[in-house]
Amino acid sequence: MCENDPDLVSRLAKRLGVPLNFRFYLEATDMAPLSTAEMLSKKMRRMRMRELRRAQSGSTAAKFARAMTVKEALTRVVDITSLPRKSLLRVLAEYTTEPAERHKLLWYACSKGSEDYDVEMKAWNPTLLELLETFPSCHPPLERLLPAVSLLSPRYYSISNSPVLDPSHLHFAFSVVEYETVYPTTAKRKGVCTSWLERIAAGYLRSDTPFEAIQPPVVDIFISPAADFRLPDSLSDSIVMIGPGTGVAPFRGFLQHRQQLYLSHLRKSDEVAERCKGMYQGHYIEIDDEDPDELEGAYLGDSWLYFGCRSRNQDYLYREDLEGFVHEGVLSTLRVAFSRETDKKVYVQDLMREDGEELINFVLENDAYIYICGDGAAMAKDVEDTLISLLEEHGKMAKEKAVAKLREWKNYGRYVKDVWS
Ligand SMILES: Cc1cc2nc3c(=O)[nH]c(=O)nc-3n(C[C@H](O)[C@H](O)[C@H](O)COP(=O)(O)OP(=O)(O)OC[C@H]3O[C@@H](n4cnc5c(N)ncnc54)[C@H](O)[C@@H]3O)c2cc1C
Repeated sequence: MCENDPDLVSRLAKRLGVPLNFRFYLEATDMAPLSTAEMLSKKMRRMRMRELRRAQSGSTAAKFARAMTVKEALTRVVDITSLPRKSLLRVLAEYTTEPAERHKLLWYACSKGSEDYDVEMKAWNPTLLELLETFPSCHPPLERLLPAVSLLSPRYYSISNSPVLDPSHLHFAFSVVEYETVYPTTAKRKGVCTSWLERIAAGYLRSDTPFEAIQPPVVDIFISPAADFRLPDSLSDSIVMIGPGTGVAPFRGFLQHRQQLYLSHLRKSDEVAERCKGMYQGHYIEIDDEDPDELEGAYLGDSWLYFGCRSRNQDYLYREDLEGFVHEGVLSTLRVAFSRETDKKVYVQDLMREDGEELINFVLENDAYIYICGDGAAMAKDVEDTLISLLEEHGKMAKEKAVAKLREWKNYGRYVKDVWS
């Protein structure tokens, strides 16, 4: 769960004319107000709160059924930077006194103005503050505004370490999202969550500040297990991982996990086995020393990783770990594409093409699992197209057969993607 920019929150509260420390909660309007005697009864007040939560559950308003400050609401509850919904524009129009401004807001919100909403509003992508500043006669009351604004959504990050190696920490990698809006003029923006993470991590990145001197930030998190994006059941299965940028994060976790499980087989450590149970994608396999068949299964399958970044000195994430995995025999092949080191930009799919025959033979002969993680807008599609053309060329398949092969692997959980845009 992330937080909005404190400066934006302060300026928005000022524009709304409400003090940041003002405490409030919202009641559903169709309930009769409590009498003074009822208000004095703790039991009645509790009952009313329960009724309110039930009545409002599932709605944005439900979030405001408990007392909070304006600062908390604007910082942690509502999304004040995403594209405003049409329903919000209609609410704003209700509280806009200047006719031309009201008309413009209603135009964007109605079906006839859909094209302008799609073209102008989406290119503009105004924050709530920018919207209110553009329509200066708009003065919505807090109790009407807040339930109309979308809720701030949680952001997801792949866990990049194995709980077997370190059960008390979660590691993850993020890149700060920066983008430009182009209407009415160009403006630079940063992603809500990643700029917040950048702010709270800033102290740790300054070399002059000892870690102990920093007040650790509190971050609310929840764990959402991936449905399909998990290691194969057996350590002896072979895997191909394709994860440029922060897409490499889960693969560092995968490799750590396979390494720890393999070591635990060698050590037969009960403690590791216990910690591993049900905690992570992939399983601990109890090996019976007396059973030669089982012992045979306890070897580490080959694994290939395609990683991509701009240059080795700029953003080669987890370099030490990845090279260490190669050195320790956990990763059989590490291929890194640098897009800014030479005149020709090199991406993961270029390296896959270079390896063409060897890669396809490896996948087909070992029934390898294929994983793709990272940017879903361009990379995942390019990688999939490359896989199809390599299957055509080196697997001697017609295009339809290659596409069907990927579909078949997908159905069996052997071709898995975890991508976002
Ligand atoms: C299953 C899953 C796993 C993920 N794992 C990771 C991970 O390990 N590491 C990681 O860094 N991210 C990961 N993400 C993405 C992450 O959840 C956020 O979406 C991302 O960090 C941006 O969040 P933000 O709040 O900073 O940006 P937002 O405030 O949500 O972005 C604001 C706006 O920026 C625009 N925008 C966003 N990204 C771009 C872009 N690249 N270029 C141009 N415009 C853009 C969009 O219009 C968006 O509405 C994962 C997502 C999913 C679904």
